[in-house]
Amino acid sequence: MTTTSVVQAAYVVAGVLFILSLAGLSRQESARRGNVLGMVGMALALAATVALALEQSHRPWQVTASLILLVLLVGAVVGTWRAKNVEMTQMPELIALLHSFVGVAAVLVGFGSYLSEPHSDTVHLVEVFLGVLIGAVTFTGSVVAFLKLSGRTKSAPLMLPGRNWINLAAVVASAALGAWYLAASGDDAGAGAGLAPLVLMTLVALGLGWHLVASIGGGDMPVVVSMLNSYSGWAAAAAGFMLGNDLLIITGALVGASGAILSYIMCRAMNRSFVSVILGGFGAEGGTVAAGGEQGEHRETFAAEVAETLANASSVIVVPGYGMAVAKAQYPVADLAEKLRGRGVRVRFGVHPVAGRLPGHMNVLLAEAKVPYDIVLGMDEINGDFAATDVVLVIGANDTVNPAAQEDPGSPIAGMPVLEVWKARDVVVFKRSMATGYAGVQNPLFFRGNTAMLFGDAKDQVERIIQAL
Ligand code: NDP
Repeated sequence: MTTTSVVQAAYVVAGVLFILSLAGLSRQESARRGNVLGMVGMALALAATVALALEQSHRPWQVTASLILLVLLVGAVVGTWRAKNVEMTQMPELIALLHSFVGVAAVLVGFGSYLSEPHSDTVHLVEVFLGVLIGAVTFTGSVVAFLKLSGRTKSAPLMLPGRNWINLAAVVASAALGAWYLAASGDDAGAGAGLAPLVLMTLVALGLGWHLVASIGGGDMPVVVSMLNSYSGWAAAAAGFMLGNDLLIITGALVGASGAILSYIMCRAMNRSFVSVILGGFGAEGGTVAAGGEQGEHRETFAAEVAETLANASSVIVVPGYGMAVAKAQYPVADLAEKLRGRGVRVRFGVHPVAGRLPGHMNVLLAEAKVPYDIVLGMDEINGDFAATDVVLVIGANDTVNPAAQEDPGSPIAGMPVLEVWKARDVVVFKRSMATGYAGVQNPLFFRGNTAMLFGDAKDQVERIIQAL
């Protein structure tokens, strides 16, 4: 058996492990197993690729092995350092940054591939062109997403006049440059004659990626994160075609397809059409954009009072949001739920699909704090139950419980389905101030007669309530 056939067999096994990993990750109960399978698959893929590189290398094997070891070491040190230091709330921006690496890798592989074989067959030339195009869009798009998610730039959409025409012009220009590139790379052309259109297209694609994501408003960022996830998969698949690496094609396609499915789920959760999100600026025209002012009187409450209300309740729904992640309040929240359940109170959690800053953000935090899976329900499962509920504890959620989404057609979040917490008998909102949520819109929930505001850090306040109970 040759090394190549062993490597091919290892790639097939790794591909199957990746598919099993994705299947495992689709349910909380099997997510750990899914992660382990993915890690085993990746270790196998790395080992097989190193073996292949050593066999195919034209240099002495010691030199190749040392180079590979060096890059593996640098990658492992940086990766371990980031993984250990990153806060859960910084995850989205880290993921956006990682997507940008995949994009830049596809661009570099494309240029490397073109420069080493400028006169290859048309199929390969097209692979290179598309790989660089997708990679460049992914790169700048992810960098802008990173800047927005980390708060380094404002998350309001950039509304350039004629923005859809700008996008269309970029696509048409890329197609024209593609035709020039293919014609210039013909056999009788000078070496690297297609380089000029390739470089020009890269610049256009970098601009397109930047403009596409800059045009998308804060409230639509969940779709952008999953969309860039999908793009990074296609960029990796394109790199796989350029390098003739089957596993990279399979893995890229798996990431690309699962990212596309996730984007669809996020769009449905936010009642947005995919096209309107991609074209940017959805819901930002006219209306009460970033209405941050007060909308009436709010009522303030205190931990002891909330404890008393809870002591007399028979049904409670906890609605977590981004603020719970910031406060790291999931552990005391889980303790509070346990305590109430011990007293015979029916406690459930209602999780909005875009709560937090990552798809599944709240589910991960609640699982971390060992909240039983069967009391954690999705928006569709719990929305009908609020009217028959005594108390709702809104822990650091804001946009996802905003009635303006249903009641104010001019609101930037109009049409987004929300958790209808205001239908409960009493609502307690845990937050530090009257500040708006991620989408920058004021929340009329805070001024309703059955809502009380519990100001302060969510973790401190929940701990106080536990003490008072
Ligand atoms: P929001 O981001 O709307 O609001 C979070 C609230 O938490 C704020 O109003 C803040 O108020 C409060 N908060 C912050 N820190 C604390 C703390 N230490 N203690 C108590 N409260 C705190 O949260 P939601 O989860 O409801 O909505 C998520 C938003 O993020 C949506 O707009 C969604 O579209 C967007 N988004 C979601 C992504 C995803 O994939 N899930 C990705 C990108 C964006 P205050 O400052 O007064 O304390």
